[in-house]
Amino acid sequence: MKNWHIDTLAVQAGYEPKNGEPRIVPIAQSTTFKYDTAGAIADLFDLKAAGHMYSRISNPTVAVFEDKIAAMEGGVGALAVSSGQAASTISVINICQAGDHFIALATLYGGTFNLFKHSMKKWGIEVTFVDPAASPEEIKAAFKDNTKLIFGESLSNPGTDVLDFEKFVAIKNEMGVPLIVDNTFPTPILCRPIELGADIVTHSTTKYIDGHATSVGGIIIDSGNFDWTNGKFPGLTEPDDSYHGLSYTETFGKAAYIVKARVQWIRDIGCYQTPQNAFLSNLGLETLHLRMERHSENALRLAEFLDGHDKVEWVKYPMLPADSNYALCKKYLSAGSGVLTFGVKGSAQDAEKIMNSLQLAAIVVHVADVRTGVLHPASMTHRQLSSEDLEKAGITPQLIRVSVGIEKIDDIIADFKQALAQL
Ligand SMILES: *Cc1c(COP(=O)(O)O)cnc(C)c1O
Repeated sequence: MKNWHIDTLAVQAGYEPKNGEPRIVPIAQSTTFKYDTAGAIADLFDLKAAGHMYSRISNPTVAVFEDKIAAMEGGVGALAVSSGQAASTISVINICQAGDHFIALATLYGGTFNLFKHSMKKWGIEVTFVDPAASPEEIKAAFKDNTKLIFGESLSNPGTDVLDFEKFVAIKNEMGVPLIVDNTFPTPILCRPIELGADIVTHSTTKYIDGHATSVGGIIIDSGNFDWTNGKFPGLTEPDDSYHGLSYTETFGKAAYIVKARVQWIRDIGCYQTPQNAFLSNLGLETLHLRMERHSENALRLAEFLDGHDKVEWVKYPMLPADSNYALCKKYLSAGSGVLTFGVKGSAQDAEKIMNSLQLAAIVVHVADVRTGVLHPASMTHRQLSSEDLEKAGITPQLIRVSVGIEKIDDIIADFKQALAQL
């Protein structure tokens, strides 16, 4: 995609209508695609030709969304799936099977944490969670012979911890495994993990990418940079019996990982994104650069207000100069994104009282859309975690997560001011 700036890619990439075609990408609401000969379809099944055949595996509308994100993240290809959870799942099982092990940061989103710790264990895949602040030596000590990857979030949900790219990229290079980065919170507008050394990027597109809370979705982007032929990834190099002995690295080169994820896992599990959701998520992408700017500006202003409030014990937002993540945020992100957490002086009940008193900010099990919302992770998104795991993830009973919207900041601050006054 031409040498455009990311703001232009957000608006233009992925779809180039020809003479007389619709200016806006049409919703290809069709499960299937017509070909003139049986042989043409046989070639598609054998992966000898590219083309759409069935919307469980690919679809023209979803392809536009995939191509746009691949361009924005700087990858060789992308695969859109039905949720962020599906993206995390496929990104791991594409290179990890029963008997394998991987490393994940302890600060992951609660849903991902459960998936890795409990569900993957039932499939025979073992995970070790590491403290993101641990030394390289401690992290390397968690590796085993069968360790296949490292998984982390560029900006963690809900703790807003920034990934130390330099440290983790050095470790994954030394250990010969890929680094998978969930880039949901910063989006490619604020952080581009591939430029920072990540090999695979995932998103819950449900969040800022859609941005309007209309569509659950996820996406996986392949940098094309990892060498899968280093002996650790036979699933990519050895013959795949379900495609007459085809080897993904031999046939698809740099795109081996992302092609395999689609033609093997999406074919078999069937969690592809729907054309309708891809259309809406693509519409969201068109304004992502504008929204991320405003979300970040508003969140910083609200963080500063809360920081100076006498009923607030602490505020965590990576663009506050006193924040423990400030240096990393300055280094890797161009702004702080729209999520902050704070602790009220008092108990979980006091946190609940503030939430119930808010009038503009709604209590929602969602984050990262245009409307300001609040959530109490300890009793909601992270309630399945043990108290020990909650502590490791930095989630206290007083913690309120705020997803700062793009309303006028004066109205958002006034709302928190009146709610805090009721304590
Ligand atoms: C929400 C979220 C997910 C899960 O995405 P869904 O679309 O809800 O399945 C994964 N990672 C992060 C960082 C998230 O915020």
